[in-house]
Amino acid sequence: MTMPSTPYMQGDSEDSDDEQGHRPATGPAYSGGFSSSSDAIAEILEGLTEPQREAVLHDEGPMLVLAAAGSGKTRVITRRIARLVHLGVPPWAILAVTFTNKAAGEMRERVLSLLGHDPRLTRGLTVTTFHALCARLLRRYAERAGLKPDFTIYDSGDQASLCKKVIEGLQLATSTWPPRSALSVISNAKNDLMGVESFAASASDFYNKTIARIYAGYEKALRAANAVDFDDLLVITAKTLQRDAEVRQECQRRWRYLLIDEYQDTNHAQFVIASMIAGASSKQEQQEGTPAEAPPAFAGGFSSLSSSAARSPAGPSIFVVGDPDQAIYGWRGADVSNILEFEEHYPGARTVALGENFRSTAPILATADHLILHNKRRKHKPLFTSKAGGEPVEVVLCRDEHHEARLIADWLRGLHDEGEQHATRTMPSSPAKRRGAEQQSESVAWRDMAVFYRTNALSRVLEEALRDAAIPYVIARGTAFYDREEVRNTLSYLRVVANPADNISLERIVNTPTRGLGDAALSHLEAFASAEGEPMLEALHRASEVRDLSPRALKGAQNFVALINAWTAGGTFMGAQIGSSLADLVARVIDESGLRGMYKKQAETSKSDADAQRLDNLDELISSARQFETTYDPAADPALESSPDHQLLPPMLAMLRAYLESVSLVADADAVDPAQGAVTLMTLHAAKGLEFRAAAVVGLEEGLLPHSRSFESPAAMEEERRLLFVGITRAMRRLLLTNAAYRTLRGMAERTIPSRFIDELDPAHARISNQASVLSGLEGTRWVDGSEGNLDEGASRLGRPSRFGSRPGSSSPGGPQSGRGDWPSDIRTTDAARRLTSPGGTSDPSFVPEPSGDTPPFKVGQRVRHPQFGSGVVRSISAGVNARAVVDFAQVGRKTLVLEYARLTAER
Ligand code: ATP
Ligand code: MG
Repeated sequence: MTMPSTPYMQGDSEDSDDEQGHRPATGPAYSGGFSSSSDAIAEILEGLTEPQREAVLHDEGPMLVLAAAGSGKTRVITRRIARLVHLGVPPWAILAVTFTNKAAGEMRERVLSLLGHDPRLTRGLTVTTFHALCARLLRRYAERAGLKPDFTIYDSGDQASLCKKVIEGLQLATSTWPPRSALSVISNAKNDLMGVESFAASASDFYNKTIARIYAGYEKALRAANAVDFDDLLVITAKTLQRDAEVRQECQRRWRYLLIDEYQDTNHAQFVIASMIAGASSKQEQQEGTPAEAPPAFAGGFSSLSSSAARSPAGPSIFVVGDPDQAIYGWRGADVSNILEFEEHYPGARTVALGENFRSTAPILATADHLILHNKRRKHKPLFTSKAGGEPVEVVLCRDEHHEARLIADWLRGLHDEGEQHATRTMPSSPAKRRGAEQQSESVAWRDMAVFYRTNALSRVLEEALRDAAIPYVIARGTAFYDREEVRNTLSYLRVVANPADNISLERIVNTPTRGLGDAALSHLEAFASAEGEPMLEALHRASEVRDLSPRALKGAQNFVALINAWTAGGTFMGAQIGSSLADLVARVIDESGLRGMYKKQAETSKSDADAQRLDNLDELISSARQFETTYDPAADPALESSPDHQLLPPMLAMLRAYLESVSLVADADAVDPAQGAVTLMTLHAAKGLEFRAAAVVGLEEGLLPHSRSFESPAAMEEERRLLFVGITRAMRRLLLTNAAYRTLRGMAERTIPSRFIDELDPAHARISNQASVLSGLEGTRWVDGSEGNLDEGASRLGRPSRFGSRPGSSSPGGPQSGRGDWPSDIRTTDAARRLTSPGGTSDPSFVPEPSGDTPPFKVGQRVRHPQFGSGVVRSISAGVNARAVVDFAQVGRKTLVLEYARLTAER
């Protein structure tokens, strides 16, 4: 398993040589530094449309680029950065912020290549995410922000454990007060910069009053553990910037050009951070209560970069790009009014619209456009391309999730093996015409294809189908590696080493492997720690003072403390035993903690692959530390910067903290690695900003997409529509949308209702095919509940017409209109149908699986006959239990048939 890249990017900070060497003269920003070559500028402007040029060439002052999907917003940001540098703006004065580490990495790469990878032009350039920026600022200004510099960043799992303890400590039942629900309310409050007191003051009912108590306890516990959660990274930074003029001024002096991508998804805290760094407009200053006049320059840190704190009379150079139609994080507190009201926040701001889409074909754009027109709260921006042609969007209704997954696998395989013009095998069209098209089309590489879904739970069945079809894939779940039990355990040891107050991590591993510190011993230790007002680790140190501790537990505590002391040289990190290698420290922790021994024994006993894999993952973690070590630059570590308190920070401890921070900030989208040569599976949320030649969106069903939590709120429903819009607009050339008539969720197979969004697609550009109840794909399948999976029933329950079944020219010979009388008499149930039976098992007794050997019964190119479809030619065939053949039939076009049920015979 490979790990996603971490957000520490080399050069992601100032560099002192550079500061001196390329410091511009005081005065106008463009006066000094590099000579600007007109050739280089011409190259930067090459291929841009007129409005794109206008945005790139914009000089000083605020600018808003409000433009549709795929119109070049991100491209404009990268070109603008390159242009600024060529004009003489020092790279360290530029701060570009995006939403994922991956996007930041790509943006950086694009800028580096525009600047010819010349380190003089790029050193000190900051391209980062909001969270990584904040983590960096908080390390640097920890004390001023009210934190200790060795703080730990808690992820959602840690947060849930901590919140659970708080809820239990308040004598509340976690069944009535689920920690994750409480955390969601707390998170929203934090992102609105609402602290414990103001939340408590505004709480009027029992529910909110109780949440206020949980919030207070949770905050107290976080600070006691010297930890921050993800929201805190933003919130504490925003508040520090608002409150502390020196910190604010330092940031403003350092970063004179701020560029933000995907601005539509900023929340209030991010908005404040951006405006504080940009130099708030007068309106903002009035609102936030910050002084308009800057105090004298702060002597240390960034202020040495430039004595020119004077801002342009044109206003702060904040340059934001975004598309309100792609605002998909409202549920997490993002506020689209940040972009809609940009001109109010920054009077005099210039606005540019970009217009033309350069990513997708006309049918894909028309589909996206038609869908988003159903949102009422929006200003319409046309989506158009000057390119002609393009395949229609394919929409296929499948029987169940297994059918859907196999259909997707076939589609991907077809694009890969036969090229872009490959039509869905289930689509009717003349085989001759299609063959002609196939000859012209180029194969689509696996890495250029993606499958999107609304929730992660949908990925499992897809994975199975892709594995069966031997299609390489990666799941963009960046945190997955670091979430594995063995990896988390190791990281928990490391976190205790880095932050002795981290009780949550300590409790996770203090008795893993077992060392006599069971629940009873822990509660004695906890009681002692809480009475003394000390962290748990201190209680372990003083275990001999803890009453009622068994001799075994006492021994266990002493052993544990001895381990930690050995790794930290008694907490100093200065001893000879602490080498300079982070990887060596990680290896020591794995070995000496007993984790490796424990997992080894487990693997030997169980002989399972999964357990053997755990040992590999431990080694992979050591490699990740080694990799980090090679890219880590102490000069770029904010914790080692000028603040006198940090001067003494042992280098090993600084590196360990930076490593743990980088691991905490990994996000799902970071795992997308086009170099991997694999199809990407990811959530729609993680897909934003990306593009793929071919993309499929699965699960277009009521309750899934739109998600059930949006049913009650028109605003949330519009956000769901935007989410599908984002998915659709990722596709460059081919797009497939699917749903399933039956889906097993939480262990129950349920009849689904097709998504209302399907009815909102443009029929002129979509080819819709109902495969749920037709004799294609899974030949001879019948549902055990007697239904044929006709979706009209579901649709009519919603009181709206459905295209399925009523669409003329339906691809199926049976069609959804066909009654049961159309089914062949020797019908059999499929695996899927059997899964639909009750747990007691009432599956069709006539089902007798036919033996299927490893050798396919037909050859590619062979002529075959199907009782209903007539004569055809086998195009491809697979072996095994679920062997399937792709057959081009003269009358009905291409079909994928499950051989076991298809009743194909060789034609002579
Ligand atoms: P999104 O809204 O999805 O974030 P975006 O507006 O940021 O999209 P980009 O990703 O910058 O759009 O560009 C979309 C695609 O169009 C990219 O492949 C980009 O290289 C290409 N592109 C942008 N502008 C031009 C242009 N002037 N000429 C040719 N291709 C372009
Ligand atoms: Mg973009």
